[in-house]
Amino acid sequence: MQYKNFPMVSKVVFGRGSFDQLGDILEPKRINVNAPFIFLVDDVFEENAWLNTRIPLAYQDQIIFISASEEPKTSQVDALVEQIILEFKERPSGIIGIGGGTVLDLAKAVAIMLTNPGEAKDYQGWDLVNNPAIYHVGVPTISGTGAEVSRTTVLTGPDKKLGINSDYTPFDQVLLDPELTKDVPKDQWFYTGMDCYIHCIESLTGSYLNAFSQSYGEKSLELCKEIFLEDTLSEAESQDKLMMASWHGGMSIAYSQVGVAHAMSYGLAYVLGVKHGIGNCIVFDYLEEFYPEGVKLFKAMKAKHNIELPQGLCKNLSESEFETMMDVALGLAPLWENALGKEWESIMTREKLRSLYEKM
Ligand code: NAD
Ligand code: ZN
Repeated sequence: MQYKNFPMVSKVVFGRGSFDQLGDILEPKRINVNAPFIFLVDDVFEENAWLNTRIPLAYQDQIIFISASEEPKTSQVDALVEQIILEFKERPSGIIGIGGGTVLDLAKAVAIMLTNPGEAKDYQGWDLVNNPAIYHVGVPTISGTGAEVSRTTVLTGPDKKLGINSDYTPFDQVLLDPELTKDVPKDQWFYTGMDCYIHCIESLTGSYLNAFSQSYGEKSLELCKEIFLEDTLSEAESQDKLMMASWHGGMSIAYSQVGVAHAMSYGLAYVLGVKHGIGNCIVFDYLEEFYPEGVKLFKAMKAKHNIELPQGLCKNLSESEFETMMDVALGLAPLWENALGKEWESIMTREKLRSLYEKM
């Protein structure tokens, strides 16, 4: 048995208002005045003075606003890297991602590609990165994906949606300021929060479960139940706790694996561009056969927060689109093995998978 030797985020700060410490945190990491810090910031904050006037800019530092309307692509990473190389005389002192999973993943990928030759698509997979990334910092502004703590950066490439999983992917520094999540729209709060909840369910019911994953998964699940099913928390407490649930959920899957909902949601994302959080919700709603308790609670949470999920997504798909979607989903063998055991291929046949997709 070969056990995973998992790298973790080296430094983390947590607290409401801790965003104002970012300048002090970055200062010692500045290589010289020509080596800028590049801030990749979700463009939802472009007109938001409350946040963007507090971004600590000095010398040549630059903000690049990023749209999170689509999930990150390998070509987008390559274009950002080229833009940065062309614009600055020296390699940046660091990349700081401020946003949700989309921007955090872009920040990780750009930091890797600034020190590694070729294109981002060449590194989609496991342990293909040879050179350490430049210093990179993650500042989540919405909670749930666990991208702030994970060893991967999920990218859509020309022929697959797959992460750059490597020891150089995790952030060197994460700043957790729950106050930054205060303006997340309700629906999005639910979708991304449910990503965390689904991480817990898939990890805790999977065959890869171990005491390490379980300890984080149980804590995260407890927090999710408190946040999404009870009325005891203030808004601030709820924001604080969801940020920690996301962290723990990410830690839980780091040492186990996700399952059916994630595999199927990757298929939806690849063919239809459905985003991760909502895609997981759409799929999970139909998975009571695999996660009876988890889906029951999910439906209760959905009802409590009046969330309506889109329906009929796969109604007009062509044969070839169905085939691609199933290829993408079934290509994720570890997820299926975690969820259904070693004999998963005899349980999740193409016919079975197709019939599930046809309901969505
Ligand atoms: P997101 O980053 O796509 O953001 C969702 C929406 O919320 C966007 O419209 C964004 O502008 C908005 N938003 C973010 N913060 C806000 C704020 N404070 N106020 C108002 N609006 C705000 O959503 P996400 O669910 O965090 O991330 C999804 C992405 O994360 C996917 O690309 C997925 O592949 C990736 N992901 C990565 C990992 C990993 O381990 N690397 C794990 C899970 C998901
Ligand atoms: Zn997820």
